[in-house]
Amino acid sequence: MKKLFLILMIIFLVSGCTRDKRTESYISKDDGYVSINYPITNINVLDDEISSYINKTYYNFKNMNSKEIPELNISYTYKEINDDIINVSLQTEIRTNRTINKIKTFTYNKSNDKFLTMEDLVDDLEGLDFEIKKELLEKYQDADMDYLSNISYDYFTIDDENLTIYLNPAEIKSKHDNLIYLDIPLDSLKLLVDINVSQKPDTYLSIKKKNVSLDDKVVALTFDDGPSKNTDEILDVLKKYKACATFFLIGNKVEFYGDVLRRMLDEGSEIGNHSYDHKLLTRLSKAEFQEEISKTQEAIKKVTGFTPTLFRPTYGGYTNALKSYTDLKFVLWDVDSRDWQVKTKNRILNNVLPNVKSGSIVLMHDIKDYSLKALEEMLESLKDDGYKFVTVSELLELKKLRESE
Ligand code: ZN
Repeated sequence: MKKLFLILMIIFLVSGCTRDKRTESYISKDDGYVSINYPITNINVLDDEISSYINKTYYNFKNMNSKEIPELNISYTYKEINDDIINVSLQTEIRTNRTINKIKTFTYNKSNDKFLTMEDLVDDLEGLDFEIKKELLEKYQDADMDYLSNISYDYFTIDDENLTIYLNPAEIKSKHDNLIYLDIPLDSLKLLVDINVSQKPDTYLSIKKKNVSLDDKVVALTFDDGPSKNTDEILDVLKKYKACATFFLIGNKVEFYGDVLRRMLDEGSEIGNHSYDHKLLTRLSKAEFQEEISKTQEAIKKVTGFTPTLFRPTYGGYTNALKSYTDLKFVLWDVDSRDWQVKTKNRILNNVLPNVKSGSIVLMHDIKDYSLKALEEMLESLKDDGYKFVTVSELLELKKLRESE
């Protein structure tokens, strides 16, 4: 019986932990400088392929002979081509006295559990073959034509504009160390699948103005540590009450939740920066701290076109020095839901409602279920008390306007 319970627990834990798509990072200095970043898609076959490629690459790296301390960097791109098809690329850079670049790509169709080749995606690839080789030869004039004649189309990525073909330099006997690639504009191809083209970023450039006057009572709700599996539901509740919030996001999770981020901005909420890896900031060097910020800014901008202006320090911990290292405005809170500590929605409501006054900033966490459970009653009650909901930037703007009255 005990054993069964244990097994059930493990199944629960495993399934509970892996439900979200997420990214994984392994950073170490034990066997040279190693930074490995890759996505967990929750598609088992695809995740197995990705991790076996990474394990193999890391194993080979560890067994390399090198006079200098070697460096391994693996980064990735991830693109949902449409509702069924996912394209993942893993780019490997190994630095010793020279630099070696390699690429591996996977294209997977969820609807029939199959990996796709370029032939599956592009109509009449054979007909295009000559044109592609001609362009490659023009671009890489040192390539060996004999080798070029047998190239495979194993590695490719797709974005909103191009299908990009990659070749590892050894394949065409080029002297280049960098990856060899060719962009083919999508509109020059006949694709065999429909492709989701992302909304153009500039749709999301401005936060929609709310109908708030200077005398209104206002409150800014904030959610840290997202995006997560809860975010869509939080947005549903906010929408129901025509409310908004400010979401301080962790950068490394952003790429997987593009739709959720665009929805935040589209429905009048704001996005702030909450660092890339959620490290304790006071332990970081200036450069590390700045990288935590800039990587998150880039990730958010990439999926939404919006550049945050607000920063919430992790664990609320910061120094004046840290503040001086960035142009982003540090935002704390005056009302703490303590949702990381309490286990009922009533406790959260008791921590928040009696303490809110006009101009308050309320701290909650995107990933804490009881905040989500308390949200509807919180909004109802604040609305009854005459509060209007604004983002933190709007709150700051309003304070300025009031001061200048
Ligand atoms: Zn946090």
